[in-house]
Amino acid sequence: MNNIFTLIDKLKAERTLPKEEYIRLITCTDPDALEYLRQTADTVRKSVYGNTVYIRGLVEFTNYCKNDCLYCGIRRSNTAALRFRLTEEQILDCAEEGYRLGFRTIVLQGGEDPHFTDARLIPIVQTLRNRFPDCAITLSVGERSRKSYEALFAAGANRFLLRHETANACHYAKLHPEELTLANRMRCLRDLRDIGYQVGCGFMVGSPWQTAEHIAEDLLFLGEFKPHMVGIGPFIPHRDTPFRDMAAGTAEDTIKLLSTIRLILPNVLLPATTALGTISPNGRERGILAGANVIMPNLSPSDAREKYMLYNNKLSSGDEAAENLAHLKQSMAAIGYEIVTDRGDYKE
Ligand code: SAH
Repeated sequence: MNNIFTLIDKLKAERTLPKEEYIRLITCTDPDALEYLRQTADTVRKSVYGNTVYIRGLVEFTNYCKNDCLYCGIRRSNTAALRFRLTEEQILDCAEEGYRLGFRTIVLQGGEDPHFTDARLIPIVQTLRNRFPDCAITLSVGERSRKSYEALFAAGANRFLLRHETANACHYAKLHPEELTLANRMRCLRDLRDIGYQVGCGFMVGSPWQTAEHIAEDLLFLGEFKPHMVGIGPFIPHRDTPFRDMAAGTAEDTIKLLSTIRLILPNVLLPATTALGTISPNGRERGILAGANVIMPNLSPSDAREKYMLYNNKLSSGDEAAENLAHLKQSMAAIGYEIVTDRGDYKE
């Protein structure tokens, strides 16, 4: 009978575990074993990326959304949401400010806003590409056709974030309305990778009805798909969604999974997310200490930040705010990590 320490060594060596062993690791609560997991992940992270932390300037450019994901505060049925959409000029101003602050990756994230057709989004990407030739452009704009992904790539986008949300189709169906399917989500992820994007997938930790078995399936999927980036954060309920009374995910579970993912994918770009910072006051630092190597501060105008409310109490000030980069640098230096001005591409 393997003990958990042996299991952690095995995961580090083989980069995968059978489903039953993933479940044992995920459900482990022994503090010594969890500390060993964290240290092992940190060692692996340092062997690939040293103590550097990459930063991404996040521009939340629209909270209009045609979708109705049951967990999300900007779902179309939420009539209480105050909607906003940045103009091209505002987006470029955000990017300009980000560049000045030292960001070399600009992330455009939004709801699936029908206003941003290819005809409107492509010129924005082209302008960003021309103005900031030394920056990576990351899109997180949801499900689109392969043709659209190709056109955006040709316009100069390099990376795409599209969380798979859960690798289990039954669980997926409980989190989403009928018209959204895991099959189409996966089709999008495959298209994006084939086209040449650096691709990020990921899921919420502690989403309603999620079981250890579901998480094990997520981990098996990550090991097979081998994304360049993985975004995970705790589920946090939003008061104007059907999941308002559901329990939130925990920082502890998220941190455990960050370490596990680092062992499955040693080279992965792994953010300590805003949701982790929201659920725990030192969540970002704990994430970095457990194998994460990316932070995505917010570059959006402050009124937009308040309206881009995916879940309640979402952080957008303090170390979350791009303009407080100096403080974030200090927080990271205090725990032995260094924020760098770098595109921060995936290391093969
Ligand atoms: N429309 C884009 C961007 C979605 S927002 C897309 O579909 O990719 C980015 C991520 O926020 C989502 O993928 C989801 O995993 C996460 N999210 C949404 N609501 C949340 C909540 N209530 N708690 C925690 N994370 C949430």
